[in-house]
Amino acid sequence: MSKLAILGGEKVRKTKFPPYTPIGKEEFEEVKEVFKSNVFSRFLGAWHEDFFGGPQIRALEKEWAEFFGVKHAISVNSATSGLYCAVGAIGTEPFDEIIVSPYTMCASAVAPLVYNAIPVFADVESDCFCLDVGSIEAKITNKTRAIIVVDIFGQPYDALKINELAKKHNLKVIEDCAQAPHAKLNKKFAGTLADAGVYSLNYHKHIHSGEGGIIVTDDDVLADRLRLIRNHAESVVEAKDETNLVNMIGFNYRMTEMEAAIARHQLRKLPSLVEERRKNIQYLENELAKIPCLTMPRVRGGAEHVYYAHAIKFDRQIARIHRDRFVEALKAELMPMELRETEGVKIGCGYVKPLYLLPMFQQQMAYGSGGFPWSASGRTYDYAKGICPTAEDLHFNSLITHEYMRPGMTKVDLDDIVTAFTKVWESRDEIR
Ligand SMILES: *Cc1c(COP(=O)(O)O)cnc(C)c1O
Repeated sequence: MSKLAILGGEKVRKTKFPPYTPIGKEEFEEVKEVFKSNVFSRFLGAWHEDFFGGPQIRALEKEWAEFFGVKHAISVNSATSGLYCAVGAIGTEPFDEIIVSPYTMCASAVAPLVYNAIPVFADVESDCFCLDVGSIEAKITNKTRAIIVVDIFGQPYDALKINELAKKHNLKVIEDCAQAPHAKLNKKFAGTLADAGVYSLNYHKHIHSGEGGIIVTDDDVLADRLRLIRNHAESVVEAKDETNLVNMIGFNYRMTEMEAAIARHQLRKLPSLVEERRKNIQYLENELAKIPCLTMPRVRGGAEHVYYAHAIKFDRQIARIHRDRFVEALKAELMPMELRETEGVKIGCGYVKPLYLLPMFQQQMAYGSGGFPWSASGRTYDYAKGICPTAEDLHFNSLITHEYMRPGMTKVDLDDIVTAFTKVWESRDEIR
């Protein structure tokens, strides 16, 4: 093998990888129709037919519910907004505890705080990286109201065990499915496995409309409350004869007609986009599994993974070099994806820093300067380093994630990824 790029040798890859651009001509045609109609939104924050939005919004919600086999789909302007709506709609009280994952994008861990509830972090599974049922059980107290599970990297949470545990303790389960649209567990779609599920349509995700989100549920009462929180609940409840005023401060979390038109077409593309990711992963895993220090991600029994990210475990004992050095060398061999240059090479050490290590949790400061809501909860909460050892080990020592399985990658592109991994593995002694 030639000299490693990190030591001044030639890169394996000298040109950018193809961009991931699932939106095309078809979506442009749909948006043109919206322009012709001159209706860019039709939401009204009052109890009126237009409380439910315009024609594109309603069509998207109907098609989404049919596709995923669920009773209600409620569009919002982001998955973050969707998670906030869900925490409010389940009737969260101030100082309730909600169990969350530390190893995910921050929105699901922050959502409890929006309703002055306390996020309690449980640890994740060492092989599938979703919330671990045993760790959740250990965190349940008489203040626990709900669990926010995350289908991290594209595979469903351990729904059988976690739903049973939740039932036993009378807890609600909210499923953050931002990374797993079209994933399945025992033939049932991820997102529909809990009391409410939230999908994202932001531009990093499998399908997108620039920004956007969808909440799904089979529960009629919950669906009503979600729609109210989305759209100025306080000015709607009276005319609607809604008597339960708990958390009925409304927001404007509404999606536009243009986003809905794009999202409708994106939904039709979802199965083929997912299929292409799976094919690319199969190709990559066949080759990468030959490298002794790497373990490919485990897919839960009965699950279908949709690979938002490819999470590979790295064994330092076998490699006799730290993961960080290995990844540094890998990055030097490769190039960013087109349109994402500022993010650098999309291979990284771990995923995100365990969320309790963020300043907001370390200093327990969310609302005002007095430490609210923690300071007024009458309890003490520990967010010290060490509370979720598996998440910390994954992040600081043993996980590598990358996104080079995205549709648009050619066989040549995938071969460059494999060559870079193999080159660094074979020459690792030179950078020890
Ligand atoms: C992207 C993402 C979100 C947030 O989605 P937005 O639509 O950007 O608000 C939430 N949770 C997870 C796991 C995500 O990956």
